[in-house]
Formats: sequence, C-alpha cells, structure tokens
Amino acid sequence: MLTGKSALITGSTSGIGRGIAIKLASLGCKVMINGFGDQGDIETLLGELRTASGTDAIHHGADMTKPEEISDMVQTCGDKFGSVDILVNNAGIQFVSPIDEFPVEKWDQIIAINLTSSFHTMRSALPYMKRNQWGRVINVASAHSLVASPYKSAYVAAKHGIAGLTKTVALEVAQQGITVNAISPGYVLTPLVQAQIPDTAAARGISEEQVVNDVLLGAQPTKQFVEIDDVAANVAHLCSDAAKGITGANLSIDGGWTAQ
Ligand code: NAD
Repeated sequence: MLTGKSALITGSTSGIGRGIAIKLASLGCKVMINGFGDQGDIETLLGELRTASGTDAIHHGADMTKPEEISDMVQTCGDKFGSVDILVNNAGIQFVSPIDEFPVEKWDQIIAINLTSSFHTMRSALPYMKRNQWGRVINVASAHSLVASPYKSAYVAAKHGIAGLTKTVALEVAQQGITVNAISPGYVLTPLVQAQIPDTAAARGISEEQVVNDVLLGAQPTKQFVEIDDVAANVAHLCSDAAKGITGANLSIDGGWTAQ
C-alpha cells in the first residue's frame, strides 16, 4: 500500500496515465491528475479516484509545453498534499511523417512535451522528495527509447532522450532514498495509437488493417497489444518498498519487441 503518499501523474486524463492514476489511487495515494479533456469527464475521473483512494484527488490543467505552468502544477501538488512523493512523467504525443516533410512546430512540440517537460517536473519535484529522503520518479518512455521506426523522428529522439535523462537523474539522487526509472511499453491500444493508424497507412501506402497487423503487432512477438493495467501494475511495483534497489533502469513492457 502507498497510503499517505502523494502522486502526480502528467497526461493522466486518458490512456496509460489514466490507468496509472487509478492504480495508485487504489493503493491509497492522494493523486493529482493532469491533461486535457472535457471538464465533465475530468470530474467523473476525480470522483472515481476519490472513491478508490478514500482520500483527495485533484486536477491541474498545466500545458506540458509551458514551463511556468509545469512549475505551478508541481508547487500546487506540494501545497495541497504536503509533498510530491511519486512523480510519473507520462504526457506524450505522436506525429508520423517523413523527416523532410515533418512540420517544424510538431518537432518542437513533441520534444517539449515528451522530453523537456520531464526536466521541468523533476527539477521542481525532487526538492520535496529530498526533504523526505523518499521518492519515486517513473518516466513513461517507450520501446522507441531503445529502437527506432521510420517516420517517427521527433518521438524516437525524445524517447531516447528520456532514457538518458532517467539514468542521469537516478545517479544524482541515488543516496537519498529516491529511485528514478523509465518504463518502455510496446504498443498499447490508446487514443494516441488509434490516431496514428490512418497517418501511418498514408505514409507507408498500405491499409489501416495492414498497419495494425503488420506494423504495430508485427513488431510485438506476442501479437497482442500491451494492456494499460499491466503497465500500471509495473508502475505500482516500482513505487513499492520492494523496488528500492531498482534505479536508473529502463523496464521493457513490450511483448518481446526489443528482444529481437
Ligand atoms: P493518450 O493520447 O491516451 O494520452 C495522452 C495524455 O497526455 C492525455 O491525458 C493528454 O491530455 C495529455 N497531454 C497531451 N498533450 C499535453 C500537454 N501539452 N500538456 C499536458 N497534457 C498533455 O496517450 P497514451 O497512449 O496513453 O500515452 C501516454 C504515454 O505513454 C506517452 O508518453 C506515450 O509516448 C507513452 N507510450 C504509449 C504507447 C502506446 O502504445 N499507447 C507505447 C509506449 C509509450
């Protein structure tokens, strides 16, 4: 159980982040969620989180491209919950295009959200963890932190970057009861993946069905999508006392993709 701990999960109004928020709430955490979405849906999720945890849950709408908003989010979490014990850097977007047609603003946006936002959240949250000599940072990377796929230049660059950033920060705080790890899922069927199917079909000149079977599941030896609940359970393990010796790691949850 993580009763009494506070957890901040970026990009948690949808998909993997939402699943992680529900899991950490079920273990007793006070949860701050972040991300965009319909206000009614966000209120419904907050209600579910409060019921699951038996304690408070709040939403902060910081845009992960805006450093001042990120720092306000972390400070608000610290003020409202007394600390920031667990930080899950999960917000991320994708864009699929050959590099010579890749929009410059999309490159900048992906690097800002998928990489630089984690620099900002960690530099603001680590002082709280150092004060308590306990903390858990989990950076949601991707199989694309270890291998590449064509037409995903910004995403693959950002995810390789987060793998290096994770190792660096892990070394800096290793003696202060704080672990910093990355997790690297393979394909999980979330809105992020659903949205890239038509673009991948266009970029490769194949059907959407071929994208699912040959490109997405083609990469995963299990021929199954990874499940959100399995990713969330691994995050919960990294937050546990049993995982205090795991730091600077990059845990693949990819159905064997990167074993090939
Ligand atoms: P998703 O699209 O379902 O959710 C993304 C979340 O990020 C949403 O809550 C959205 O509101 C939020 N977000 C987007 N831009 C934001 C911004 N500027 N500021 C704040 N929040 C923002 O995506 P997902 O598939 O659940 O992906 C979550 C993470 O998992 C990403 O980092 C992604 O790269 C990673 N990942 C996903 C897969 C997959 O197959 N789905 C595989 C490996 C890694």
